[in-house]
Amino acid sequence: MVALSDHQRRSLADSGCEVRSDALTRTLYATDASIYRVEPAAVAFPRSAAEAAAVVRAAADAGLPVIPRGAGTGLAGGAIGDGLVVDLARHSRQIGSLDRERRTVHVGAGVVLDQLNAFLRPHGLWFGPDVATSSRATLGGMIANNSSGAHAPVYGTTVDHVEALEVVLADGTVAVVGRGRDGLEELRDQVDRLVARHAATIRERLPEVLVKRWPGYGLDDALRHPGDLTRIVCGSEGTLA
Ligand SMILES: Cc1cc2nc3c(=O)[nH]c(=O)nc-3n(C[C@H](O)[C@H](O)[C@H](O)COP(=O)(O)OP(=O)(O)OC[C@H]3O[C@@H](n4cnc5c(N)ncnc54)[C@H](O)[C@@H]3O)c2cc1C
Repeated sequence: MVALSDHQRRSLADSGCEVRSDALTRTLYATDASIYRVEPAAVAFPRSAAEAAAVVRAAADAGLPVIPRGAGTGLAGGAIGDGLVVDLARHSRQIGSLDRERRTVHVGAGVVLDQLNAFLRPHGLWFGPDVATSSRATLGGMIANNSSGAHAPVYGTTVDHVEALEVVLADGTVAVVGRGRDGLEELRDQVDRLVARHAATIRERLPEVLVKRWPGYGLDDALRHPGDLTRIVCGSEGTLA
């Protein structure tokens, strides 16, 4: 465990986000469903995108790595680390407006898949990707892992069902990305140019017949869907946003 310096402690406290660094909290967040155990320096509990951005910015200023966390059911240890764990599951659990015509719904990063499907069922709808940990897995974690389940050949993976994302970048920038959205236009164009330049290699290594593949950035998806940063954020395991 890396102990917080006075400067780091002050930076995090000044962010306005709830941050805990007591022994019990650090112990609780030292594990996920993987075989690893890494005690974080502190854990943050943002109540909004603005609070998440403020605490991520404070961590950057304080030189602390940031580890986003959902329900902690990931098997690869992606939700643990020795910096600042940001728990996005505690407060962001609201399900917002449902558009029945377009079959879209606005959800917080901490909404659990079973919770979403219980909400959708009376409307004759459900979220297709059926991750086995549906009683725990958050939509934020599913997006980060591009999760799917036994029905992936029919319903695809999570990325196939994401319309837009509100993201917080490592420098605290908050933006909405997705097809037809103007957020992060410059980054979007850079990604498009990058994947276009390597199109032949991407097509060769990641052929379209692959229904699901782990791990790595969704370069194949980004190539097939230019102008849509959700394609590269989905599956980035918390390393991009
Ligand atoms: C018994 C078992 C069965 C499983 N079966 C499946 C399966 O069928 N299909 C499948 O795909 N997976 C499966 N998993 C893996 C895991 O449950 C899923 O990937 C799940 O979607 C992860 O969600 P989570 O909320 O627990 O994320 P976490 O474990 O908390 O995090 C996973 C990754 O996402 C990042 N992250 C989490 N939330 C956010 C956020 N809001 N913003 C940015 N990054 C974030 C974390 O940093 C981490 O890298 C299984 C795991 C177990 C233990």
